[in-house]
Amino acid sequence: MNIKILSRNPNLYSTKRLVEAAKKRKHDVQVIDPLKCDLVIEKRNPNIYYKGEYILDTDAIIPRIGASVTFYGTAVVRQFEMMGAFSTIDSEALVRSRDKLRSLQVLSRAKIGLPKTVFTNYSRDVNGVIQQVGGTPLVIKLLEGTQGLGVVLAETKNAAKSVIEAFNGLQARVIVQEFIKEAKGADIRVFVVDGHVVGAMKRQGKEGEFRSNLHQGGSAEVIELSDEEEIAAIKAAKAMRLGVAGVDLLQSSRGPLILEVNSSPGLEGIEKATGKDIARSIIQYIEKNV
Ligand code: ADP
Ligand code: GLU
Repeated sequence: MNIKILSRNPNLYSTKRLVEAAKKRKHDVQVIDPLKCDLVIEKRNPNIYYKGEYILDTDAIIPRIGASVTFYGTAVVRQFEMMGAFSTIDSEALVRSRDKLRSLQVLSRAKIGLPKTVFTNYSRDVNGVIQQVGGTPLVIKLLEGTQGLGVVLAETKNAAKSVIEAFNGLQARVIVQEFIKEAKGADIRVFVVDGHVVGAMKRQGKEGEFRSNLHQGGSAEVIELSDEEEIAAIKAAKAMRLGVAGVDLLQSSRGPLILEVNSSPGLEGIEKATGKDIARSIIQYIEKNV
């Protein structure tokens, strides 16, 4: 099979591992920088021009599209889809997953456990918003944030008010969320491929940090999921229509609560924590679908 990995950097752990896994299973594989693709659009003959040549005969693509290049990257994914290639991430699902608010709405409709969340667009009634999520402490999140940046824990009403007002003043869109204290600064990353859990790890924030992101100094260890957690993660990936998904959830006193569903989840943390060959699972998912 001919597989293309859409990635800006061939030296990233995830990209390298996917290349390795594809080669091991005897596929032709190439890393393509989506930002260097020209999309040629005309009647009935969609094409992609890359480094002086047309890209021909692609059976499948694995998009690894960073949040900052979602618009162009998605257009490239869509073009490959129109050329008949199978994508491990559907272009529509990719766009949807990048919008935190829309994702929460989709998950809510699918009856999946979520932390209670309010979206506020310049609310003068900050007190009302705070009450909606059950008072303080509460979490305020920039809608465009990633890797834990723009996620703030407000311990008191005054702190919550100042932060919400500050973000409003900057015209930054935020969501206000109930703080799940029982999670104790940890979350669970569940890696779902083709409707199955292929690995799960618990990430613990460093001392005194409520955010468990590895980018914020958190550490990871393998974890055995409860049935309820496994079902919630699979349901979340399905609701988002993602064949490959990194589902983040919090353990709460009312069961697992989904925080977000990542469409380009990194392989390094999960493979190192679990010792599993996740890259191979992704290649096998392609083999099943092409
Ligand atoms: P990002 O997409 O930037 O990683 P998240 O929404 O995943 O933002 O939040 C980052 C981290 O903060 C989570 O991994 C989790 O550890 C912690 N966190 C986020 N929301 C809550 C919450 N409502 N209650 C408790 N902890 C939270
Ligand atoms: N981009 C990483 C992932 O999706 C985030 C790692 C982190 O939480 O810091 O796995």
